[in-house]
Amino acid sequence: MSVLELEHEGLLTVDLGAIADNYTWLCARLADGCRCAAVVKADAYGLGVSQVAPALYRSGCRDFFVATLAEGEELRALLPADATIYVLTGIRPGCEQRCAAANLVPVLVSTEQLRQWCVHTGTDTRAAPCALKVDTGMTRLGMGADEFVHLLQTPELLTRANVQLILSHLACADEPEHPQNPAQLAAFNEFVSALRRISPPVQASFSNSSGICLGDAYHFDLARPGSALYGINPLPGSDNPLRPVVNLRVPVLQQREITRDCAVGYGATGSAAAGSWLAVVRGGYADGMLRTQSGRGRAIAIAGDEKIAVSMLGRVSMDTCVFDISALSAAQRAQLEVFELLGDDWTVDDMGAAAGTIGYEILTSLGRRYGRRYR
Ligand SMILES: *Cc1c(COP(=O)(O)O)cnc(C)c1O
Repeated sequence: MSVLELEHEGLLTVDLGAIADNYTWLCARLADGCRCAAVVKADAYGLGVSQVAPALYRSGCRDFFVATLAEGEELRALLPADATIYVLTGIRPGCEQRCAAANLVPVLVSTEQLRQWCVHTGTDTRAAPCALKVDTGMTRLGMGADEFVHLLQTPELLTRANVQLILSHLACADEPEHPQNPAQLAAFNEFVSALRRISPPVQASFSNSSGICLGDAYHFDLARPGSALYGINPLPGSDNPLRPVVNLRVPVLQQREITRDCAVGYGATGSAAAGSWLAVVRGGYADGMLRTQSGRGRAIAIAGDEKIAVSMLGRVSMDTCVFDISALSAAQRAQLEVFELLGDDWTVDDMGAAAGTIGYEILTSLGRRYGRRYR
């Protein structure tokens, strides 16, 4: 790839085929009768929902989750009518009709939201379809057990509100041995059976990407993976069974021979010894190269056909960062035009670890200044 192709700002390649393969891998892991949804919130984790969601639809996915009403409206226009679109963060008062008009299924989190949904949508006897989120231990959005027990005493409201799906979210699914996983599972099973006594056909959804790996008991009717579709390892610490999805290449802006010992970058936190070589590359914290990886990041220098892993020096700046390329031979330096900041050899998970965070934050931080290409 030439610097011209990179348009001098970097090129982010998203492999839609890898996303489709990851979807297929997840489907194959599910218990019989469990369908696989796709979570495409936050612009498909930063990768571009307008490309990613139709690709998943072509792979057979018919259930999609977004975070906000605006994301739902955008997605509705991208997908055929038989796709079900759930909005995860509940509904704010006054938005009920907008939500129903776009044929979105809100994930409601309180009795009051169920009441308002009945008042503002559907007919006198039945509201438009909705989902209900219960809290089994995450203590984020959702209805707690006490409110739920109270709600069960007004079965007319539950029936009228047209609850099609009950869901809950695991807090520790990426730690398979964590005792909170079976505790949340037991709590969820109680919620589900109580609701099914009133409304037998209601479906249940419990597992995110990591939850799928906890086994069939966690699958219920509909799984909700997000990160695994985009190549993030659902089982940190084990080999990643999924295909990497992103590749990010940026141009080298300058190579420098260091002739005397010196400090590198803001705060003079990096140091380079006389005789070393540095490469200044595009990609700074305004492009999602999180500043917390300063001094700890790595990347792959690409010299012709050769790939050489190199280390970051000093702090990440807004637009650039600096790598030590002393390990490259003069011949390799002569061919060096491009760095791979993310790819098969330095993954989203690797960068997340170097930055003291998770791959999710790396993906959703990817900047808008790179060119984008879909494969
Ligand atoms: C984001 C989200 C998911 C997807 O989680 P991953 O860990 O990315 O698979 C599933 N369910 C809910 C409620 C979420 O907020």
